[in-house]
Amino acid sequence: MNILILGSGGREHTFAWKIAQSPLSNQLFVAPGNSGTAEIATNVNIGVTDFDAIKTLVLKENIDMVVVGPEDPLVQGVHDYFLNDDAIKHVSVIGPQKAAAELEGSKEFAKEFLYRHNIPTAAYESFTKETVEKGYDFLETLKAPYVLKADGLAAGKGVVILNDLEEAKSELKSMLVDAKFGEASTKVVIEEFLDGIELSCFVLTDGENYKILPTAKDYKRIGEGDTGLNTGGMGAVSPVPFATDEFLNKIEERIVKPTISGFKKDNLPYVGFVFIGLIKVGDDPKVIEYNVRMGDPETEVVLPRLKNDFVEILQAMAHGTLDKINIEIDERAATTIMLVSGGYPEAYEKGKEITGIDAIEDSLPFHAGAQLKEGKVVTSGGRVMAITSYGNTYQEAIKKSYQNIEKLHFDKMNYRKDIGFDL
Ligand code: AMP
Repeated sequence: MNILILGSGGREHTFAWKIAQSPLSNQLFVAPGNSGTAEIATNVNIGVTDFDAIKTLVLKENIDMVVVGPEDPLVQGVHDYFLNDDAIKHVSVIGPQKAAAELEGSKEFAKEFLYRHNIPTAAYESFTKETVEKGYDFLETLKAPYVLKADGLAAGKGVVILNDLEEAKSELKSMLVDAKFGEASTKVVIEEFLDGIELSCFVLTDGENYKILPTAKDYKRIGEGDTGLNTGGMGAVSPVPFATDEFLNKIEERIVKPTISGFKKDNLPYVGFVFIGLIKVGDDPKVIEYNVRMGDPETEVVLPRLKNDFVEILQAMAHGTLDKINIEIDERAATTIMLVSGGYPEAYEKGKEITGIDAIEDSLPFHAGAQLKEGKVVTSGGRVMAITSYGNTYQEAIKKSYQNIEKLHFDKMNYRKDIGFDL
């Protein structure tokens, strides 16, 4: 098969790494890709939402399957674009159609779905500019902390959690009335605060059948000890130590099964990955969010633990035969540590040469914001490279990643020194 991956991060490099190992993969393309994907695939400089250019590429290169990495093309309807065009409708697209991608594209849509299918989640109400006064009244009925969520996609910044009621009211005003997040905050969901530990569950589905991948936990804050600003993710571990078989069973019965049957009941065609963000409250899982794609950096620890031929799985998803697949998981732990540009998640510089990659031994460097320039690998984003290792224990895996990071260098390189500190 000729396969095209859309995206340019560590997640997409990991997809490419796994797909390239499959005897079923013939030519592999990544649009736009990064310096890591350039080593194992052909990068094509096309934006992930430039559907017309993607179509031209698909026809020119006889592409059989498109694997969508990030959410933007899904929410903008890339799958529907293929289905609605006779020239490309035979191509398999891995990622849900626009109607189902609303689970990530709109928080209110996701909450309504969760409630409709009796899936455990935080209580909520949603408000618009016209009902902002009702929003203030609702906040008064809640206890701190107050959770405010812009309804639409806001590049991961749309969730604000505040301890002070007056601050919460003023934040609500700035979201709804002053359009703090533009279009994304024309509606705001106010939610009950859930107190617990977070984890992520990844599910593959063909719309009918599902398979659960290993759990993972990411480290969102920039600073050690989970302090400072939120980032796209500074590291991840898999499996999650507190996810016992009993707890995983609750996730499957109370959350995964009603989610997949909910897609069918609501007529939401879904071929792709479901990323369920969960909080363990007491001994019970509750959903905080759905994402309609894999997580990044969770992919960098989940896929390395998958022993199956990934292309065989993707084909089964596209053909509705996922029930025939027996998922095999590597028993070892996998951990990843993200190297970031100094200053990230605020302003940072780009174009710094990365050295030492060839010296890495026994770890997998997944490139993220990194590009080839005149034969050198240089930084091109905030999150630059994820260093994944296996180990019989988390400690062993983490140690290997840190030992390899010692060999890597770029100007103002930063990373958390405490990934896995709480395990
Ligand atoms: P979301 O984009 O919905 O995943 O929210 C981003 C982050 O905000 C989550 O990863 C949680 O850490 C936190 N969060 C969201 N909703 C809640 C909630 N109801 N209670 C507590 N924390 C939350």
